[in-house]
Amino acid sequence: KERTLAMIKPDGVSGNYTEEIKRLIVEAGFDIVKERLTQLDKETASTFYDEHSSRSFFPHLVSYMTSGPVVVMVLEKGDAVSDWRGLIGPTDSQKAKISHPHSIRALCGKDSQRNCVHGSDSTSSAEREINFFFKDVVSD
Ligand code: ATP
Repeated sequence: KERTLAMIKPDGVSGNYTEEIKRLIVEAGFDIVKERLTQLDKETASTFYDEHSSRSFFPHLVSYMTSGPVVVMVLEKGDAVSDWRGLIGPTDSQKAKISHPHSIRALCGKDSQRNCVHGSDSTSSAEREINFFFKDVVSD
């Protein structure tokens, strides 16, 4: 089995999509092995999205990601990384509504920034991101 990091971004939490997203996760065969509700501060959000620090949208991304609480989860199943990316759909939620109408971003995303969920893009980012949010958790 493989693990990936999933996040319900501030617009997903404030739009009350948390329970529906978790239901879709479980229906798709993932186990939610860890879960935490947290508020990102500027430094944490900037570090998490460090790979985008030179992009023009970075300041907007940081203010979006710090605009309210997020839910971070560790998901487990075979091929968790690519299966979760598949379930969330493409980055741009408007495109997701057309090409992947059953995806989570089609369900609750607004545009290419406010896309309501995150998923690790590789097994190595999954390892980094799981550590980033859960390194202090000793259980499991
Ligand atoms: P994530 O890493 O959050 O799962 P992703 O891998 O689909 O998303 P990335 O290209 O890694 O997309 O971008 C990270 C995040 O930055 C996006 O999810 C989105 O919130 C924001 N973002 C990406 N492109 C843009 C853009 N052109 N304008 C505004 N925000 C953007």
